Amino acid sequence: MSDNTPRTAIVTGAARGIGAAIARRLASDGLRVAVVDLDESACSATVDAIKSAGGEAGAFGADVADEAAVSSAVERIVADLGEPTVLVNNAGIIRDNLLFKMTVDDWDAVMSVHLRGAFLMSRATQGYMTQAGFGRIVNMSSNSALGNRGQANYSAAKAGLQGFTKTLALELGKFGVTVNSIAPGFIETEMTAQTAARIGMGFEDFKAAAAEGIAVRRTGVPDDIAHAVSFLASEGAGFVSGQIIYVAGGPQG
Ligand code: NAP
Repeated sequence: MSDNTPRTAIVTGAARGIGAAIARRLASDGLRVAVVDLDESACSATVDAIKSAGGEAGAFGADVADEAAVSSAVERIVADLGEPTVLVNNAGIIRDNLLFKMTVDDWDAVMSVHLRGAFLMSRATQGYMTQAGFGRIVNMSSNSALGNRGQANYSAAKAGLQGFTKTLALELGKFGVTVNSIAPGFIETEMTAQTAARIGMGFEDFKAAAAEGIAVRRTGVPDDIAHAVSFLASEGAGFVSGQIIYVAGGPQG
């Protein structure tokens, strides 16, 4: 790759929320961005925002938990935007319930999207990174990895992603590929709005209550996470690998 060729980044779950903010930020950092989400048409708002700001992006529909869909999406990305050397495994779902009410489907769905999805996407793209001698993988964990009532499935998946991160960092480091994890605290998105609705609270009250327990006394916004991803994806972050960075407005763990 010549020095002038922009790198290609893939951001999963980028139709909205944290993923959309990451996609916009990486594009403004000068990367070509593949906006991946379940429904290709849902990606258009993110792609349009990037293009109208002068960036390069494309929409790619894929279920990250589906092996065939992942390989076909990565093939299309390579053809349209070039070989990816940055991957942000951000797609996620919640299926919260207390253990005694949690169904096997709720358990499996959460494991599939977070763990199987990150595995399939990382496996499908790592060859481009090792060949380039450069790569950046960022896995979206969560504060909930430390334990969170009603989230046995989600917290197990997010803790699993932390082990996955450290192992990939060990395996891929010698090829110039760093692998890190961001563990967000409370970020204002549809996901947290969904949690507020589940427990019967208005979103504004839910945010205010959460902010009281956060050191910086506010809830986070998607750009808080995009900023951290921008750093981890940068050339200069090549000596940071295998780390779990809590972006949660205060100390965690
Ligand atoms: P969000 O608003 O619900 O967005 C998640 C996106 O992922 C949605 O566009 C969703 O598509 C997509 N997605 C779900 N399953 C997918 C699949 N199988 N394949 C491809 N795309 C899929 O969530 P968010 O709050 O931005 O969260 C983004 C990430 O941050 C998640 O991994 C989440 O666990 C993590 N996180 C969030 C918070 C928070 O406070 N918000 C805190 C810690 C960690 P559909 O709309 O079609 O379902």
